[in-house]
Amino acid sequence: MSEKEAELTPSPAMVAKYSVVRALAVLGDTWTLLIVLSAFRGTSRFTDWQSELDIPKAVLANRLDRLVEVRVFTRRPSQAGGKRMEYFLDEAGLDLWEPLVAMLRWSRQWYGPEGHESLHFHHEGCGADSDLVLSCYTCAGPLTPFNTFAEPGPGEGLEARVEPHSRRRANSAIRHGEEAFGSSEALTFFGDMWAPAIVATALRGGRRFNDLVSYLRIPPLVLSMRLKELLAMGVISRRTIEDSERYEAFHLTRKGLDLFPYVAMIAKWGDKWCDDASGVPLVFHHKDCGHEYTPVFRCSACGGRIHRADVKFLTGQP
Ligand SMILES: [Zn+2]
Ligand SMILES: [Zn+2]
Repeated sequence: MSEKEAELTPSPAMVAKYSVVRALAVLGDTWTLLIVLSAFRGTSRFTDWQSELDIPKAVLANRLDRLVEVRVFTRRPSQAGGKRMEYFLDEAGLDLWEPLVAMLRWSRQWYGPEGHESLHFHHEGCGADSDLVLSCYTCAGPLTPFNTFAEPGPGEGLEARVEPHSRRRANSAIRHGEEAFGSSEALTFFGDMWAPAIVATALRGGRRFNDLVSYLRIPPLVLSMRLKELLAMGVISRRTIEDSERYEAFHLTRKGLDLFPYVAMIAKWGDKWCDDASGVPLVFHHKDCGHEYTPVFRCSACGGRIHRADVKFLTGQP
């Protein structure tokens, strides 16, 4: 976290602009993830989502309205005629393939069948089973938490906090976690507004309880709960630091650091689809090439760029 950011001491209602948090206000919701994932696999009708997910009617209607509002879906009268409407992925929705694939990749890596950890993607382009490597658009080199850094961008500043989509966790949605993400733990994590924001902030250097409270303006009670969950998941570890003062610091484990591609893709989506026309709040730099970076996926076997059509995850095929 930069000094400049630390100086910005927001009033309780205001929070530092952060594309990850803006994106999570849309996506940090379990039902939303399940609805969108299912849309990538071809679902487009209200009744099909209802029967597939066993989702309450009012909840589904609410999520679809919101997703139309934020241009994830476009609503069109059904070709079959009548009053029925169908929902199709709009531009912002199609762009969600990158964060979604990053979520699925991480879930397979950490919750998939033993021995298949990194061979979970079949690249038609080269015919190999490979991993998706988060790469720099400019130089094609890999992006890691250690060779990248963020600086305030033109859109830096404070804004009223975007309220999360839903305050309560939907237990009836979580039971789909095993099927959708290989574990209910993974769905609970990705379908939350706060847990990914905590990891994203930790990736940028926020390690102390108070850093997280002041940057995210997260209610301390909620933060304590989420930190406990992240510790239990093995995403973070806790250490007591004896410096000039004694304090507890949270560190990302390997499992936590492996969330970097997901955080980078969520930030990319938020930059593009949740901006307020003042420019990006943060600019990301790739130390290896010295340029600002845009993250893309490349194939670990052939190095080729991966496009949405190359990804079978989203069509439900193994
Ligand atoms: Zn680069
Ligand atoms: Zn390949």
